[in-house]
Amino acid sequence: MRVSTEPAVTPATVPLLDHHCHGVTTGDLDRGAFEALITESDWDAPAGTTHFDSQVGFAIRRHCAPVLGLAPFASAEEYLQRRRELGGIEVSRRLLRATGISDYVIETGHKADEILDPAQMADAAQARVLEVVRLERLAEELVSDGCPASGFREAFATLLDERLQHAIGVKSIAAYRIGLDFDPARPATDDVDAAVARWIAGGADAARLDDPVIIRHLLWEAVDRECAIQFHIGYGDSDVDLHRCSPLLLTEFLRLTRPSGARVMLLHCYPFHREAGYLAQVFPHVYFDVGLAINYTGSRSDEIIAESFELAPFHKILFSSDAWGAAELYHLGALLFRRGLARALDVFAERDDWPEHERARVTELVAWRNARRAYRLGDLDAHDAVDDPDDFDDRSDSR
Ligand SMILES: [Zn+2]
Repeated sequence: MRVSTEPAVTPATVPLLDHHCHGVTTGDLDRGAFEALITESDWDAPAGTTHFDSQVGFAIRRHCAPVLGLAPFASAEEYLQRRRELGGIEVSRRLLRATGISDYVIETGHKADEILDPAQMADAAQARVLEVVRLERLAEELVSDGCPASGFREAFATLLDERLQHAIGVKSIAAYRIGLDFDPARPATDDVDAAVARWIAGGADAARLDDPVIIRHLLWEAVDRECAIQFHIGYGDSDVDLHRCSPLLLTEFLRLTRPSGARVMLLHCYPFHREAGYLAQVFPHVYFDVGLAINYTGSRSDEIIAESFELAPFHKILFSSDAWGAAELYHLGALLFRRGLARALDVFAERDDWPEHERARVTELVAWRNARRAYRLGDLDAHDAVDDPDDFDDRSDSR
């Protein structure tokens, strides 16, 4: 328990639980490789231009350069040269350890061979690491391992149970593969079996699951296990049809799953974060964050963070960086979130006299308490003991 003599919790110092991120790459990156990591575009900037000329590029030069021992606004070339001198491992350690993120919830389904695995992330960041598994990836693994259509449903159920011994939740990229305007109902088992048979018969395309009946089956398997289910929402790379990624398209799915015990985590949500805030208010099992957009809106991220505090109850807002690859994105995700939260709370205090102890309470909710409750991570007061990764055994009720 906190005792009253301790200084008040502030956004600048509160430990953060990053409920959705991926691993870093520690490779020594050349300019092209680094620029590819600081945009959601799949292509190089047009000839004669650079991805550094963006909110995230300016934020890196402003806020990350000093962590590497450079002056703020060092040029992109100086920054990358310094990055190579220090080496990818040292750069990652410096940038990650300065975030104040005590817990990283890592989703391992995207290009896992190019980034640190969860144990390596725990070491690089000196933090606790937890895992979330991607539903579509599990199904794809089974099929590429030669699982026959007739045994798919049973094999998937077994594999999911096995992975949930360790993972604290699942993620779906239905937004990418089928759009969020899918039929929300649980599919009939005969239809699932027929769809799997078609998928497997498709041969070379079997590596990529984009069948709506099968993806709905995976989602309902997760619902049956009362999982925390993360959904990609909104902004993402060029593979996404953004107009099919509004969380409002999940409204009927949310009605159907409300009594199930599952929790639905709407990830990043930009530019639909106001819609997400509405859903978080009306559905008791819905949570959301504005990660990813924070990095990519840089100097404008304060406004987005403030907007996430409009309709959403304070017990439904989560923190994430949604960082992948570049350690800079974890660093900025935390730094800009802390700044935006502090400024939003200052405005509320100025307008409506929010007392300091209430600002501190809301800060803790959003920084880590909401996530610990939503993911059923156990005793809240154990959070301060972040030194020993083994003390996460208290999440025995995490399913
Ligand atoms: Zn992500």
